[in-house]
Amino acid sequence: MIYKQYGNTGLKVSAVGFGGMRFDTTKSNEENAELVLYAYDKGINFFDTAPAYCGDRSEDIFGIAFRQLTAQRKKFFVSTKGTPIEFDTAQKAQDAVDRSLERLGIDYIDFYYVWCIRTMAQYELAMIDGGQYEGLLEAKSQKKIKHITISSHLRGDQLGNILAKDEFDGVLLGINILNFGYRWKAVELAHEKGLGVVAMNPLAGGVIPQNENKLSYLASENETPTEAALRFCISSPQIAVTLNGFTTKEHIDMACKVAESAKEFSSETLDKIRKSTPDGVNRLCTSCGYCLRDCPKKIPISGYLQIYNESLIADRSDSEMIKLIKDNHSWGLLADKWGDAKDCIRCHRCEENCTQHIDIMDRLEQMSRWEEKAYELEENS
Ligand code: SF4
Ligand code: SF4
Repeated sequence: MIYKQYGNTGLKVSAVGFGGMRFDTTKSNEENAELVLYAYDKGINFFDTAPAYCGDRSEDIFGIAFRQLTAQRKKFFVSTKGTPIEFDTAQKAQDAVDRSLERLGIDYIDFYYVWCIRTMAQYELAMIDGGQYEGLLEAKSQKKIKHITISSHLRGDQLGNILAKDEFDGVLLGINILNFGYRWKAVELAHEKGLGVVAMNPLAGGVIPQNENKLSYLASENETPTEAALRFCISSPQIAVTLNGFTTKEHIDMACKVAESAKEFSSETLDKIRKSTPDGVNRLCTSCGYCLRDCPKKIPISGYLQIYNESLIADRSDSEMIKLIKDNHSWGLLADKWGDAKDCIRCHRCEENCTQHIDIMDRLEQMSRWEEKAYELEENS
């Protein structure tokens, strides 16, 4: 494992971080906690969680592992989060910190994120008098939090305006080998300001491992596109920690193997990747599911958008997309769905929540055209 400085904090963190959003929820909390301990033994000392991850079980799973590590006087770093929308007063923010501490079984949280800032209005909500940030400052003064950090999906220039105010010690950003051409400015800004930069979604929400054939141009000799994508984040000097959502020991082994020999990409290779990456791939659906919360028509938006990803990555023809939708009706992402793409009433709610700023309504409109043809095929088959 390699270890890096977390911004200007003086802390040395493992280049690979354990993202606690992809535990196998068919297993018990105790079984999943074994995975956390396995990761620690492999040299991972940075663990990221949040209330609500994995059906609200992630903090409890880490708590089981952390109690064991603490009993053995092991050192590790923990980050967790709260949104300014849910915790919109200082008191609610402090209560959320207390709840996370209790569940995690630790005395303090190393990094607490003002979570999922997608718009400037959400940032401003966190900063109002008597709001979340004020509560976090109080928790910090009581030594319950060491560092207040921000998790952002804002554009680079907007994030720059926030970082200029010196309110945060670190930032969590969605960055990967497919979108870096469009997102890198925010990483550089944060790094230059001395913030610890943590990368989330290094595999574009699973899109890269699922499309290795089509993305073979990402890889150098003797590596897979997935390994190349991990190497891109892990080897970047600007990124302190690359979070991986681990489900199995094999996932941990692969990330650690990449971290052991992480050779930085040359600027020539990055230029080549940038030119080979099709337009629109900077805005792939990462299946995070935030768009699903408020859809009045209960449309399985992320299912449709993941299928739409295929048209971006693989440049699929109309007939291929129609077939793909038909197949997904039977056994895939669109089986047992409530609403169709055509039911969208363009209320904008999903787009306001989308972490990737995707033009969801337009993509659904295109999907509904293909879906109509898919239904015709199904009727005639
Ligand atoms: S715009 Fe369409 S898909 Fe999005 S929330 Fe509204 S009805 Fe649902
Ligand atoms: S459409 Fe946006 S919010 Fe919805 S799952 Fe995809 S990336 Fe996430």
